[in-house]
Amino acid sequence: MCGIVGYKGPQNAIVPVLEGLTRLEYRGYDSAGVSFKGENSLELIKKEGQIGNLKALVEQKNPYSNIAIGHTRWATHGAVNDTNAHPHINENFAIVHNGIIENARELKEELEAEGYVFQTQTDTEVFLALVTTNYKKNPSVRNAITTAFETVKGNSAFVVMNKFNDNLYAIKRGAPLVCGDNHTQNEVFISSDPYALIGFAENIYFPQDSVLCEAVTTPHESHINFYELNGNPSTRFDTQKKQMNLDIVSKGEHEHFMLKEICEQPDLVRSLLAYYFHGEGKKDLIELKGLKPEFIHIIGCGTAWHAGLLIKNFFEKYNKIRTSVELASEFRYRDPAIHAGDMGLFISQSGETADTLASCELCLEHKIKAVSIVNTEGSTLYRNCHHNLLIKAGVEIGVASTKAFTQQVLTGFLLSQAMRGEIDEKIFEKEFNLLAERIEDILKHEEDIKNIAGQVYHYKGFIFTGRGAYFPIAL
Ligand code: GLU
Repeated sequence: MCGIVGYKGPQNAIVPVLEGLTRLEYRGYDSAGVSFKGENSLELIKKEGQIGNLKALVEQKNPYSNIAIGHTRWATHGAVNDTNAHPHINENFAIVHNGIIENARELKEELEAEGYVFQTQTDTEVFLALVTTNYKKNPSVRNAITTAFETVKGNSAFVVMNKFNDNLYAIKRGAPLVCGDNHTQNEVFISSDPYALIGFAENIYFPQDSVLCEAVTTPHESHINFYELNGNPSTRFDTQKKQMNLDIVSKGEHEHFMLKEICEQPDLVRSLLAYYFHGEGKKDLIELKGLKPEFIHIIGCGTAWHAGLLIKNFFEKYNKIRTSVELASEFRYRDPAIHAGDMGLFISQSGETADTLASCELCLEHKIKAVSIVNTEGSTLYRNCHHNLLIKAGVEIGVASTKAFTQQVLTGFLLSQAMRGEIDEKIFEKEFNLLAERIEDILKHEEDIKNIAGQVYHYKGFIFTGRGAYFPIAL
């Protein structure tokens, strides 16, 4: 899943949309595009490859519009090429999409039988076709989108621009989506990631699944309307005044983001301590005091799964609770034995990992307690779990996780101790501070580490060994 940015307001919309897409580059992508409203038609510029390719085209054409949507694609359906890049448009609608439409093939066959001619190989165009045909039957933009949304299966976020009015529409299921407004500047925004909106939006809204967002500006004001699928106004969204700043998406003095993130670890360890012992996190730990499930299912993907392997050791050693650690992508598809009295612990940096969310849903269906270890407050996982422990790692841009892993493991350790009911704050403060100092000591050897890396990086294979806490790290 890649990046989405939409804008409507008084300035040239292409500028904030391209800026937002550039900020989301860290997520990786294979092509990029924008669609905007021209004099009488919806316009499109898109290009395979780096955003730089798209920017070069935009510079040549020099378009101006007050409304635009943009996308960076990570192809799942159809080759990486200019045609399959998003947005996908026709005469009346322009659409960007993150995620996968699981029943795309069946729907495509039905639509083709009805005479719809597809231009691309993407699953996304199925949504465009559905919106378009729905609109023909009942000329209501909102209804055309919600009916299409109810027809598609799978986890996705969609943003739609249309010829009939100047609003932007967005809706999602199991995929990240945020809206924003800026009353001072009379602007509205939509994105798949709040970091695209920092410095632009004054308020950020996190809609829940199946809530249709309608971003509206008039000459005098801007706002977002939220609707349920049946058309009734919805209150299923969270609001946040934006306090994030742009530093978090810049490398500062470091050569690359991963190095910056490695170096942030000592400070983050200290601030995790402050958050859980002196700050807002204290009540979250107290709530979990004495919790003694019969069995714990730890579930995550990738790095979060590795963190889970370490956290399992804590539960078995300190709490004497049997624990399994499973990849979310396996857990959700087999028929796991989940019993009343079990607990699910879901670990995810973004809180939007589709397989982890599906595993969480499965546990909730079995009515067991769901706890998350998560970085993103307000994310879907955060909202779905009964208890949440934030890892307070800030944005992690490096693809190989470093600081988020450390914070996940430490948060898991605090969870195990809280459940045991024995947190001696004095001892923990000492230990956490010592850990931060030890990390600092290691980081002082940056040059030595670099030298060793320089000597070995060209070898074809490495064997990593580890026992106990180091075993999952060696994997
Ligand atoms: N499934 C869509 C495609 O392949 C969207 C992929 C994405 O999330 O970028 O075009």
